Amino acid sequence: MSLAEIQTRIAKACEEAGRATAEIKLVAVSKVQPNARVAAVLDQGHRTFGENKVQEAAGKWPDFRMAYDDIELHLIGPLQTNKVKQAMQLAEAIHTVDRPKLANTIARHAQDLGQCPDLFVQVNTGEETQKSGVLPTDADDFIAEVRALDLPVKGLMCIPPVDEEPSLHFALLAKIAARNGLDGLSMGMSSDFERAIALGATHIRVGSAIFGARDNG
Ligand SMILES: *Cc1c(COP(=O)(O)O)cnc(C)c1O
Repeated sequence: MSLAEIQTRIAKACEEAGRATAEIKLVAVSKVQPNARVAAVLDQGHRTFGENKVQEAAGKWPDFRMAYDDIELHLIGPLQTNKVKQAMQLAEAIHTVDRPKLANTIARHAQDLGQCPDLFVQVNTGEETQKSGVLPTDADDFIAEVRALDLPVKGLMCIPPVDEEPSLHFALLAKIAARNGLDGLSMGMSSDFERAIALGATHIRVGSAIFGARDNG
C-alpha cells in the first residue's frame, strides 16, 4: 500500500457514502516506523500524523517540525497524567481522554499554557476490561464533565474489539456523538476505515496500510 492508494480508497468510500473527501482527516499512524518511512510520507505532502506514546513522539516530531511546515500531530494512545503537559505541548489533538483525573489534569495545564489541543473522548464501545475508554453508559456524563471544565471536546474515539464486526461499534459511537452534539468521530484503522467512513468517521487512523507492517507495537 501507499499513501496515494489509501487516498484513492478514501475517495471511493466517500463517494459511496455521499460524503466529501474534505470531511475526512487521514491521521497517518507513524508509531514504531523508521524515520525514513515517515519522511517519505512527509515528502509526498502529507502533514497529519498519529503517535501512541508521548516519549516516542517527543523523540522524533520536534525534528520533523523543523524540517517540514504545518505538521499536525495527534496522540492516539493511552495517556498518563504525568505526561499530560508534554503531550499538550507536542500535539494538536489528543484522542484518548478517558477518565476524570486525566480531564482535570488537562484543564489545569490548559490554564497554565493558555492553550489546549483538540480533545476526543475515548469510548470503550466493546466494554472490554483491558481496553481504555469510558463505558457507553457513562459517556454522556463524562462528556458533560469534560465540557464543564471548558475544554475543547471535538468528538469521540473508539477502537473496536478485534474479533467483532467494527461497524456495530462505529454506529454506536456515532449515536453517542450525535446525542451529545459532537461532530468529530475518530474511528477506523487500516482494516476497516472504509466502513468507518460509511458510518460518519471524520478522523481515520491508518498505520500499517500506509507505512507497511510494524516491527513491534
Ligand atoms: C496503531 C493504531 C492505529 C493504526 O493501526 P493500523 O492497523 O496499523 O492502521 C490506529 N489507532 C490506534 C489507537 C492505534 O494504536
